[in-house]
Amino acid sequence: MAQIIPLAEGTFTVDRSKKFIPFDPQHDRLQDRPKGSLLIEIQPFLVIAGSHYILLDTGLNLSNNQEFLLYQILKEKGIDPSQITHVLLSHLHKDHAGGICSLHPDGSYRLNFPQAIYYVHEDELKYALSHAQQNEGETGGDIASSYAAEEFELLFQSDQVMLLHDEGYIDTHIRYQLSGGHCPYHVVFWIQDQDEIIFYGGDVAPQYLQMKTRYVAKYDYDGRKSMELRQQFAEQGKREGWTFLFYHDVQRPVMKLI
Ligand SMILES: [Zn+2]
Repeated sequence: MAQIIPLAEGTFTVDRSKKFIPFDPQHDRLQDRPKGSLLIEIQPFLVIAGSHYILLDTGLNLSNNQEFLLYQILKEKGIDPSQITHVLLSHLHKDHAGGICSLHPDGSYRLNFPQAIYYVHEDELKYALSHAQQNEGETGGDIASSYAAEEFELLFQSDQVMLLHDEGYIDTHIRYQLSGGHCPYHVVFWIQDQDEIIFYGGDVAPQYLQMKTRYVAKYDYDGRKSMELRQQFAEQGKREGWTFLFYHDVQRPVMKLI
């Protein structure tokens, strides 16, 4: 049996400005946030399957007391960051790709998981690179402007990266497919360990309840396609007993659909 460990960085609201504002359910009220704000978790996952330590997306690149938050969370779970063997990236929006690398005091960027191979769709990386360069120096605003060109350049040049294409196997346990929908080159992953199928749908399948309703989301690049994909994954996953990992779900990050 694979071990699934959600690595929650916290709960946030996000509105049209695409800024992530921390939300404390004890003290904050959703109605005080800008109209249309969504309540979301930011939650990478670690899946341990045999000798594979697979990180699914990398969070926002937050830090706590000067330490990279994802390192702290991993250490609390008894995992050393150097144990990570695979980093699977669904897409490169900042809430998923922020933790790919960090800026070090000497001014250079370094990958945060030195022993891992990073898997990312080739066209997603190229898209991120071209948009980052156009928007360099800006903060906030739309998602594209949150890209830092150096970070993606580092990934592009690195011998630790494997570029993904339409579909295929990363090894016998891990399968991927270009889905599009949320963004043009969004990728989804399946991890198979013995009889168990774990599905990570990134922002095409971000929350449990979204798998149960038909709707077109404004934040998707192709909202109709996302809706159809969600329905397709929900039906197949139900039939085949997949374990779904929901990156933005506050309450139900790991669920089977029944
Ligand atoms: Zn997201």
